[in-house]
Amino acid sequence: MRSILSINQEATNERYLGLPISVGKSKKKAFEYIKQKIWARIQGWQERLLSKAGKEILVKAVAQAIPTYAMSCFDLTKGLCDELSSIIGRYWWSQQDKDNKVHWLSWLKLTRSKKKGGLGFRDLHLFNLAMLARQAWRLLTNPDTLVGQVLKAKYYSGTSILQCKANGGISYSWRSILEGVKLLKKGIIWRIGDGNDTKIWSDPWIPRGITRRPITPRGSSLLTKVSELIDPVTGTWDEQLVTDTFWPEDANVILTIPTDVETTDWPAWHFDCTGNFSVKSAYKLAVQFRDWELGEDASSSMAAGMINNEFSWHKIWQLKFPNKVKMFIWRLAHNSLPVRRNLARRGVQMDTICPVCHRLDEDCGHLFFKCKRARECWQIMSLENIRTELELCTSGKETVMRILNMKENERNKVFIWMWRWWAARNKANAGEKMPTIADIIRSVNFHIFEYEKLNAKCDAPSCATRPAWKPPPVDVYKINVDASFHEKTKQGGWGFVARDYKGNFLEGGAGMIVRAANALQAETLGVLRSLERAAALGMTRIILETDAAVVGKAITSTTLDRSTNGCLFRQIREFMVSQFVCCTVSICSRLCNRVADALASFGCTLEDGSSKYMSHIPDFVSALVSSDLTGACD
Ligand SMILES: [Zn+2]
Repeated sequence: MRSILSINQEATNERYLGLPISVGKSKKKAFEYIKQKIWARIQGWQERLLSKAGKEILVKAVAQAIPTYAMSCFDLTKGLCDELSSIIGRYWWSQQDKDNKVHWLSWLKLTRSKKKGGLGFRDLHLFNLAMLARQAWRLLTNPDTLVGQVLKAKYYSGTSILQCKANGGISYSWRSILEGVKLLKKGIIWRIGDGNDTKIWSDPWIPRGITRRPITPRGSSLLTKVSELIDPVTGTWDEQLVTDTFWPEDANVILTIPTDVETTDWPAWHFDCTGNFSVKSAYKLAVQFRDWELGEDASSSMAAGMINNEFSWHKIWQLKFPNKVKMFIWRLAHNSLPVRRNLARRGVQMDTICPVCHRLDEDCGHLFFKCKRARECWQIMSLENIRTELELCTSGKETVMRILNMKENERNKVFIWMWRWWAARNKANAGEKMPTIADIIRSVNFHIFEYEKLNAKCDAPSCATRPAWKPPPVDVYKINVDASFHEKTKQGGWGFVARDYKGNFLEGGAGMIVRAANALQAETLGVLRSLERAAALGMTRIILETDAAVVGKAITSTTLDRSTNGCLFRQIREFMVSQFVCCTVSICSRLCNRVADALASFGCTLEDGSSKYMSHIPDFVSALVSSDLTGACD
């Protein structure tokens, strides 16, 4: 080939569109350019004096984003990802004053979410796997693309990508995608159409728990495919067979899964309510698995000196302070401020005497609450009683938690003062002249004033007009539908009311729902029953109005077809197209839907599975119907 095209040498070390053309034996070499790129970027930042909050932005927006493109195609390997993380970690922890390389918290902890005490930095390797899982998802759900057809013909003809094994002699990019398949399998679920492609005992298809498989042991059951559980006459579950085969824990869930014998089974992503895969959701799942495997789910890690280990990290990030103040509080809570005793504990050889008073050792307790100069501040601010309380705290977490629980104005004052005091201490620590106590207090008051001004702007009162029910145009009927659902019994009711352009009551209906998976499914069933009734009455132009925004959205688009109720949504859409000349869906406020709501409550009281239609206004809704009309006339 080369001689025909008279190419002397293939340029295998080159990159095409920013990716290496051939990865070859040494992954390290092929991806070296990523490391260099990150390193060069960080070198450029070193000279700029940035706060931790500023660094957080650079790390998240730039450094961690550099390898994203390569990660979407190749497994960069755990080794390289760890190297990249350690470059970024070194930058993050480097100090402005000295070139201090203490890593106060492990990278692992920094990758936890802010809610769990981390900073939400990426675990690069897990993020890499999530990106590869997306490739696998695309191949699974769009098998007809050119790439999909080529790969299928080469590696998995006659079977599914989920069954593929990494054999010898396969390309590096395919091997990478198979790494993604492993993660994909941890979150995939099969939605049931006719049940022919789903194996009862080994495939994930029950929308519950982490395995998504039956907990009932198979025993000697001869049943293999889900289709065998579906009654061929009704097209729905063979209730007797399901309750005979499974433990109630399984049976109760299975019976709420919608089926659709007109279609084949299709895959969905379990950890998203729409059933669609996202890198974000897959990454979250991978982190969860990592923490389980390490045996340290962040929420269960014990903190020294904490009686109650449920520390509410999110409360720090919810404070209405600038980010740099919150970052300071976060470090205080982790006891990772570089006070001298902490540095010595980390093996830095140094004098541990307090740089402010030069009398005692400097730890956080001393610096903020016991140091002679600090106490002067507390006195002047008239917060001595708070100081004596905080002085007794034995850990950073305990201190921060106590302050978080104070009244808002005290809390703000204490945090801001500590932050300003820390800045003053840093000056003294660097051998510069420390601001006077009067200066510090003035700066505290100034900052508090600024934040109050800032926050006052955000809290402007909103004056929304009360929404009101509106009648449909002439020749169109409006159908308001609603449902109610009881979590405990899994039962519910649906109700609808049909009205004309004058707001006249045409018909109302209500029914009892014996079993639903959740409120959303109850709403969806309500919509279906109401539409069936409207069609039976011969209505051809209707507006269907619901206050369940998710249902409204789902039956007008295809985005939710992979959700648990995807089957029902599709059924409704097909029904709307085939039975009506014109059928539009409108989403309204609950306040416009009170008649339907009352009928749904009535539906709950009916006998098992029965329904009732009313051509005259029932007493219990007549007041609501007329109030809808007066509202509309306003
Ligand atoms: Zn001191």
